[in-house]
Amino acid sequence: MQAARKRALIVGAGLGGLATAARLSNQGWQVEVFDRRSGPGGKAFTANRGGYRFDTGPSNLTLVPVFEELFRDCGADFHQRVPLTKLDTICHYWFEDGDTLAMPGSVEGAISALSSRGWASQRSLEKYFRHLKFLYETAGTLFLEKSLQSVATWLGPEGLRGILRMPFLDVFTTLDGMNRRYFDNAKMLQLFGRYATYNGSSPYKTPGTLGIIPWLEYSLGGSGVNEGIYALPTAIEQLGREKGALYHYNETVTQITRQGGRVTGIVTDKGSYEADVVVSNSDVLKTYQLLGDENSPWAKRYRKLQPSSSGLVYTWGVKKSFPELGLHNIFFSGDYQKEFAQLFDQGITAEDPTVYLNITSKLTPGDAPEGCENWFILVNVPPNRGQDWASLAAQNREVVLDKIEKLLGKSVREHLVHEEVLDPPGIERLTGSSFGSIYGMSSNSTMAAFNRHPNQSTRHKGLWFVSGGGHPGAGMPVVLLSAKIASAQIGR
Ligand SMILES: Cc1cc2nc3c(=O)[nH]c(=O)nc-3n(C[C@H](O)[C@H](O)[C@H](O)COP(=O)(O)OP(=O)(O)OC[C@H]3O[C@@H](n4cnc5c(N)ncnc54)[C@H](O)[C@@H]3O)c2cc1C
Repeated sequence: MQAARKRALIVGAGLGGLATAARLSNQGWQVEVFDRRSGPGGKAFTANRGGYRFDTGPSNLTLVPVFEELFRDCGADFHQRVPLTKLDTICHYWFEDGDTLAMPGSVEGAISALSSRGWASQRSLEKYFRHLKFLYETAGTLFLEKSLQSVATWLGPEGLRGILRMPFLDVFTTLDGMNRRYFDNAKMLQLFGRYATYNGSSPYKTPGTLGIIPWLEYSLGGSGVNEGIYALPTAIEQLGREKGALYHYNETVTQITRQGGRVTGIVTDKGSYEADVVVSNSDVLKTYQLLGDENSPWAKRYRKLQPSSSGLVYTWGVKKSFPELGLHNIFFSGDYQKEFAQLFDQGITAEDPTVYLNITSKLTPGDAPEGCENWFILVNVPPNRGQDWASLAAQNREVVLDKIEKLLGKSVREHLVHEEVLDPPGIERLTGSSFGSIYGMSSNSTMAAFNRHPNQSTRHKGLWFVSGGGHPGAGMPVVLLSAKIASAQIGR
């Protein structure tokens, strides 16, 4: 007689939940996914507004091999399902003094572009990239692909190598401090300090070990998703469906049930479901609320940690085309140190923020009417603590437009035909993320990697955490790694 298939319920169809569903279904589990939103994606959602299509959350795809691996592990080819275009320019940069830079998407290209400007010598750039490579090769697999709570991790080759090389991993130096060992040019410090914002942190606080991010970006190069970022969650959802996973949308989980130290299932606004395993792709603090265990040690600890930055997201339909802009554009702040001090020390929106502008119609013309562009603007702001977001969003809009118009030397305002804004409370409402934080906890401390919630709960047997708030952290490929670690442990 065949043994009954084990049943896993997943709370949330964000990228981490979807990847877990695909992996567990592939391992033979009976999987059901629940999300209160109308479809898959979580933060990686999509919206059609006034003839323009927008990806409403993530826009910058990094670490493509992690996506390739997920599909390969499930017997499919990622590139066949999600066509990508290699980007010659990974980002167009605009500095306050009017300088611009189209950054090539390779280590050699970056070294040549930056040294020919005289911002750093070729020698120091080569030394810098060698160090970034060393950081990745020593710490990458350890921090991104292993459980940090498992003794086996620290007794394995990556763990032992990490311990022996710890003094050279810039764990106790900030990213900015590490960068200053190689450059003193202010533009170089902004260009390479910016990677702290990839997980919502400050270059003046986050450990230099985060140098693995620019290494991955330049060594792998950048890619755009031909059909938009939303093609990623839809393809992963489809992968799970083919393996037998079931998806319940517009269904809110109101409780994770437990008995005698074990989770037993979930209750939703439509019914009750029993399970052998529950995987929470929801925010960590919200998961403890669902458990009715808000005073557990982890929940208390999480409330004390600093959340990552949140964002003010403006989506604009623009009835004009700007040939000088690309898929990814950054308009830097004139005072980077002040910007991060205001965000993380004072907890206020920056007076002169760095502005990120993504235009998917550069790659996918159908995302905007002919001759028009779909602008997605992200400004980093502090997490929600009850600020007056309506007036902050209105003020910031003018600051953003003034900055872009000044640096482009062109009017933008008169071409805006459609506008919407998403603020931190909106991010929390739509995705369940506490304080509207985009990346879970900030990495603004030496111990950040160890403070993230482990994937396996030791307090509630059968409960797993897979989300940007848990190990190994946030960002699209990183939550896929969270799913990989958890699915392997669940399988065992
Ligand atoms: C504006 C913005 C820009 C970003 N930019 C980038 C970028 O350029 N590159 C990058 O790699 N990353 C970026 N990120 C981060 C990235 O989007 C996230 O790290 C990642 O998508 C988080 O995935 P997740 O698996 O944690 O789930 P989430 O996306 O957080 O989804 C969780 C899901 O759980 C559901 N849920 C929660 N509670 C319940 C409940 N009780 N019942 C039912 N459903 C529930 C929610 O509805 C949601 O769909 C950005 C994020 C935002 C918001």
